[in-house]
Amino acid sequence: MKKIIIPIFSLLIFSCSKDSTNESNDIGNNNPEFTANQSFSIEEHSAFESSIGTIKAIDKDNDALTYTIQSEADLIINENTGEITIGENTILDFETTPSISATISVFDGTTIVDEDITITLENIEEYAVLTAEQKELVDYFRYLTLWEDSNTLSAIQKWGAPMKIFLDGTISSDYRATVQSVLDQYNTLFNLGEFSITIVDTKAESNAHLYYGEAQEIEALWPDMYEIIEGKAYHGYAISSGTGLALNNSRIWISSPIETLLKHEIGHSLGLGHSNKCDEEKSFLCSTISPNNDFLDVEKEIIRFLYHEDMVPGTTAEELNNAVGNLILLR
Ligand SMILES: [Zn+2]
Repeated sequence: MKKIIIPIFSLLIFSCSKDSTNESNDIGNNNPEFTANQSFSIEEHSAFESSIGTIKAIDKDNDALTYTIQSEADLIINENTGEITIGENTILDFETTPSISATISVFDGTTIVDEDITITLENIEEYAVLTAEQKELVDYFRYLTLWEDSNTLSAIQKWGAPMKIFLDGTISSDYRATVQSVLDQYNTLFNLGEFSITIVDTKAESNAHLYYGEAQEIEALWPDMYEIIEGKAYHGYAISSGTGLALNNSRIWISSPIETLLKHEIGHSLGLGHSNKCDEEKSFLCSTISPNNDFLDVEKEIIRFLYHEDMVPGTTAEELNNAVGNLILLR
């Protein structure tokens, strides 16, 4: 019996391989095939578990198909249906990543076939999808960074490099400790970017100059500042300047050891104008301050966002709503 079966079996292999195409690599099996030209897109900032779409493959043998996905992004595929959804760890930000690549594999029980796909992100108007509370944060960000209380800038200003402060004038060890404490509080707010403020020992290595003393002492040191403060009830003043879009120099005059005053003037140096939260809430940026005024929680958030690495110096008033909105949605 065996002698009969073997030749028949051989013949079967022969006839089968004669009819087979390149798509088949096994006896009697057709490889699964992805449908051509499938495209995928999703709105940026879409939530965890949002559906990106369903990849289609067919199998001429009607074998059950199993799908898997590989991508740098956290994407999930339903192994039976091929539906692709967003994993928990995926951040969809059009501004930094306009598209995502992935490789989908389909397995028919015999053969695995791969297909590379590109998922295009669709840009959205971030501000439009914010909650009322989030929009208030954006509005206050604008108020402070565009100096809306006074001259209303057309673009934000921020430092492009770390600030190095030289302490000058009547600097007691107590006041040095006050400065260090204020800088420590600020530096914890710069955790989303590379910026920091440190004290340096010489004027030569500084890009910011803090002078503690009487107003009269400013006349010789900084005549342009003295013209502004002369005869006024100011206790401090700050002037920052820059080249191009980013700030890179600051001069700060302080005449009182109150910590809030230093916070206030450094706030100006960093690119923040006066606050309008001065009745119920006691902002450190009010034009009139008492020692009780301090960073408001919303202002801590604004300083974090202003010094976020993605917040570009010179971001215009027109760009600001979506730029801040983007950081809020990515938070
Ligand atoms: Zn001020």
